[in-house]
Amino acid sequence: MKATCFMGRNKVEVQEVPDPKILNASDVIVKITSTAICGSDLHLVDGYIPAVMHGDVLGHEFMGEVVEVGSNVKTLKSGDRVVVPFDIACGVCNACRNEMYSVCENSNPNAWMAASMWGHAGAGAFGYSHLTGGYAGGQAEYARVPFADVGPMKVPDGMTDEQVLFLSDILPTGYMGADLCDIKPGDVIAVWGCGPVGQFAIVSAYLLGAERVIAIDRFEYRLRMAREKAGAETIDYEEQDVLDTLKEMTGGRGPDACIDAVGMESHGHGPMWIYDRAMQAARVETDRGTALREAIMACRNGGTVSIIGVYGGFMDKFPIGSIMNRSLTIKTGQTHVQRYMRPLLERIQNGEIDPTFIITHTLPLEQAPHGYDIFKNKLDECEKVILKPGAVSATTGSYAHA
Ligand code: NAD
Ligand code: ZN
Ligand code: ZN
Repeated sequence: MKATCFMGRNKVEVQEVPDPKILNASDVIVKITSTAICGSDLHLVDGYIPAVMHGDVLGHEFMGEVVEVGSNVKTLKSGDRVVVPFDIACGVCNACRNEMYSVCENSNPNAWMAASMWGHAGAGAFGYSHLTGGYAGGQAEYARVPFADVGPMKVPDGMTDEQVLFLSDILPTGYMGADLCDIKPGDVIAVWGCGPVGQFAIVSAYLLGAERVIAIDRFEYRLRMAREKAGAETIDYEEQDVLDTLKEMTGGRGPDACIDAVGMESHGHGPMWIYDRAMQAARVETDRGTALREAIMACRNGGTVSIIGVYGGFMDKFPIGSIMNRSLTIKTGQTHVQRYMRPLLERIQNGEIDPTFIITHTLPLEQAPHGYDIFKNKLDECEKVILKPGAVSATTGSYAHA
């Protein structure tokens, strides 16, 4: 089959790889009809997540048709159309029973590797390095899906791939970012990052009762989408001082909660930015902190900072003093997708959310390298790329950027 493979730092290629097979009785094989490129994939391709090997199949946002079923699978049959959560969860461990699926205790066969870095391991995940189990990803024609009775959700008839694909990750992620803020009526929420995750965090904050949402980025087309499609007020951090502007917009008090939808490759300016880039390049720190530090400093006393941007390891100049002295609450996590997908499906069905507004590019799988290029480098007003295996491709190629 064809699959999108990591071929070294900043190098992605569509290659021919062996078809996946059922390995455990609880597996299914899914023939993928739609899959997407995520900001989390960029952290892998940019070389900031360890233990990604040459030839690893990328992708953790995918859906399709069940074509093979393990002997122990009870809820799915061949022909079922499913959307698959990015985190792999057993459904029966202590974490899963508490709906903390992204820290499932049974799905990461390389738990020792993750525990050596983080103290304890998180769940397995598709296409997301050997730290999360080395599972082949879904930017491919087929994928093996373990614990098939727990993760995949059947898609109701009549719904398009585009309506439900983002239930695999970024819609639950944006929603969890807002959910962690414990929003009260009248609250003002600030969101750093107007990528796909940031857009869904904005929409979700309103759904959960926020009065105002203020979004921060530097790309005008993304800020425009945040204003026009998600309904936020916006700050361009290259034009305005973010902390001063947020104070002005909130009567001096600061937002009630701040959502970091940027993560470890935060862009910035000034001496701290140069410092972070140098420290990250030298591998002294793994995570650049401009956005997170700003989210912490901006938050009102006693407020919540919700971190859904992905971080990998260690950050320098972390403002613990601001957190401690001002009674801030920090909440975070890889998304517990299985907790949110069904309630969010209902919100899509009843018209409260239309997640298709973020899609700017639909490409054949073979053009995944081009998709990575435009998504990473913010070219052609790219917000979200969907890849279609089996679609006819005019061009193929590899993406290689310094
Ligand atoms: P993206 O790269 O499209 O968006 C990131 C945005 O942040 C960009 O628009 C960029 O311009 C902006 N940005 C960079 N520096 C900034 C700064 N200092 N201040 C404000 N904005 C800044 O990525 P995405 O797909 O939207 O994902 C966003 C983050 O969410 C990534 O870190 C991704 O790994 C993470 N993520 C987490 C989960 C989870 O389970 N918690 C799931 C999916 C994605
Ligand atoms: Zn993702
Ligand atoms: Zn579990």
